[in-house]
Amino acid sequence: MRINLSAQSFKDALPVIERLEAAGFEAYFVGGSVRDALIGRPQDDVDITTSATPQEIKTIFKKTVDVGIEHGTVLVLTSRGKFEVTTFRADGEYLDYRRPDSVTFVRSLEEDLKRRDFTVNAFALKANGEILDYFEGEKDLQEKRIRAVGNPQDRFNEDALRMIRAIRFVAQLGFDIEDETYQAICDLVSNLEKIAVERITVELSKMMQGHFWKKAMNLFIQSKMVEAVPKLTLNNLDIQALQALEGVHFTDLSQIFAVLLTSQKVDVKAVSPLLRKWKVSNEVLKRTQKITKAIQFRLEGSWTRHELYHLTLDEAILAEESLRFFGQKANVEKTVEMYQEMPIHNLKDLGITGVDILQETGESQGKWLGEMLQFLAVEVLNGNLPNNKEKLLIAVVENRNKFN
Ligand code: ATP
Ligand code: MG
Repeated sequence: MRINLSAQSFKDALPVIERLEAAGFEAYFVGGSVRDALIGRPQDDVDITTSATPQEIKTIFKKTVDVGIEHGTVLVLTSRGKFEVTTFRADGEYLDYRRPDSVTFVRSLEEDLKRRDFTVNAFALKANGEILDYFEGEKDLQEKRIRAVGNPQDRFNEDALRMIRAIRFVAQLGFDIEDETYQAICDLVSNLEKIAVERITVELSKMMQGHFWKKAMNLFIQSKMVEAVPKLTLNNLDIQALQALEGVHFTDLSQIFAVLLTSQKVDVKAVSPLLRKWKVSNEVLKRTQKITKAIQFRLEGSWTRHELYHLTLDEAILAEESLRFFGQKANVEKTVEMYQEMPIHNLKDLGITGVDILQETGESQGKWLGEMLQFLAVEVLNGNLPNNKEKLLIAVVENRNKFN
């Protein structure tokens, strides 16, 4: 089987493969980009695999960065972009159902492809367009099937993350999981508890943002995977309600958590303890709290300037779009319009600073200053005061006695 290498991402990376070949090594495109090219799905970055060792790669290319040299990955910088080049490797010992303890570089492509998770991810594509397929991945791709490379029980015992990856690929590709592979997932799913939560969160995020997230979610629940990950308290009826809606999609991790938790009628206060278990960054945590609160507010009524003031435009749009998951219409245009008409969007936009106020009053800092700034912000937001330094300073003097 041959493939058309006309996609820009392949074209840009082709010189890297050709240079490696000219130096006497084997080099191929591998992984998701090859799979996606074969089914006409838009591609992410291309990955390159080669028989050259990291040291050899570094002597061939002028500009390189050691991004994961212990796994054999070198980033090659060319005028047409950055490309991850990884040496053929076989994984070493697996301990605790996690990543291998050590990696061994090998000179055989087949050995490298053998360690990959699923047959549809285990193709290699040569510079001349030829596909190398040792595990009938092409057939699985045509028949829309996710199948482990080799014995699924062994493969999931080596790395339990592969089980959630299987369901993530269902979500992205709409494929089914082959029977033996699915049975192994059901048997071994509790091993996911031993995987670093951060890695699970990455897969969950990709899964829920997949076009076929409902299909994936059914498997996620049916295989009891939902019980092996940090608590989401998914109640069947609520999930069915979420899934009953057509054409609704997630675009952001915080939105995913906010919608799932709102569908479970979880209070905003419960967001933080729950998300700490998922080990998301503080930034994602704060954003999720804000979006959850905004969705719950919007489900009860229309936006107010005061509510929008606490959000970035992006968060406001995500919250508005999320209404669709609850069977309500989303009016994104109106939300944007309303947001843009607001005279200020946060304290930084206010025409006066704390320092200005201290200078004007000759007083020292205190609790009153923060309260004064908040008061002025609300007055400006509501159109009771212009956002103008002079007028705001007058208002400070007039209202000083309200705060002590
Ligand atoms: P995406 O579109 O999300 O980038 P992808 O198939 O490229 O999908 P990656 O997570 O980027 O997936 O991994 C690249 C390739 O590395 C996979 O296609 C697969 O061959 C291999 N791989 C990644 N993770 C694993 C794993 N846990 N076990 C075995 N092989 C893996
Ligand atoms: Mg990839």
